[in-house]
Amino acid sequence: MRITFLGTGTSMGVPAIGCTCETCQSEDARDKRLRSSVWLTWDGFHVVIDAGPDFRLQALTHRIPRVDVILLTHAHADHVFGLDDVRGFNFVQREAIPVLASEETLRRLCAMFGYMFQADPYDAASRPRLRAFSVEGPFYLHGLEVVPIPAVHGAVLSLGYRIGPIAYLTDFKTLLSVDKSCLSGLEVLILGVLRKRPHPTHLSVDEALDLLEWIRPRMTYFIHISHEMKHDVTSRELPSNVHLAWDGLVLDVDHEPWRCQGKS
Ligand SMILES: [Zn+2]
Ligand SMILES: [Zn+2]
Ligand SMILES: [Zn+2]
Repeated sequence: MRITFLGTGTSMGVPAIGCTCETCQSEDARDKRLRSSVWLTWDGFHVVIDAGPDFRLQALTHRIPRVDVILLTHAHADHVFGLDDVRGFNFVQREAIPVLASEETLRRLCAMFGYMFQADPYDAASRPRLRAFSVEGPFYLHGLEVVPIPAVHGAVLSLGYRIGPIAYLTDFKTLLSVDKSCLSGLEVLILGVLRKRPHPTHLSVDEALDLLEWIRPRMTYFIHISHEMKHDVTSRELPSNVHLAWDGLVLDVDHEPWRCQGKS
């Protein structure tokens, strides 16, 4: 499995509009963070997790050839406001693209993007063709088991995903379930960690490190990073197997041991 970090920034991105802080003025490319998203690909199958306002730019920059499935964590603007640009993939693939999310997220999407889900042929060419599926429990994607991990993110639930050797958990303060087995044996954990100071709805660095004591992944990469964490400074303060991710980072992970024969 190849993981490409399309964006690693918090909701406003980094640099933040109008900000003159050291991170926002940094020349280090790793301090330029688009809104958080990853592109996962294995055995010719392509998955994107979240499609925020930078989705079009991310798809072009990394030359994403197709999208077989979109997984959504929750319906905040920084995670879904690029869904209209899925139209480009509809034209290329000549098919509707499955979007998987919690029932709560799908309900919010219908309210935010009514035109995408209404059966109005007049608009058909100018809206994305999405097939919405509600995630109710574990399922299979192209031979790998996907386990949804619900977590509390202020007034909404965010859905993380365990996919074979990796997990993607962002935008939450506490996990809803304490079932350790869902997150055991991870090769790579991609974790939303906003900043050092506590925040009411996101993990701080200390809270994340406490969580890692419990989950014990082999490697962890932080995403959804605010401008309060400059890449080089913060990186020096983290344990050796914990990193700040950056836009464009590519990781290859062996997914063969997790393959479920005969499942798709
Ligand atoms: Zn967010
Ligand atoms: Zn700043
Ligand atoms: Zn959020």
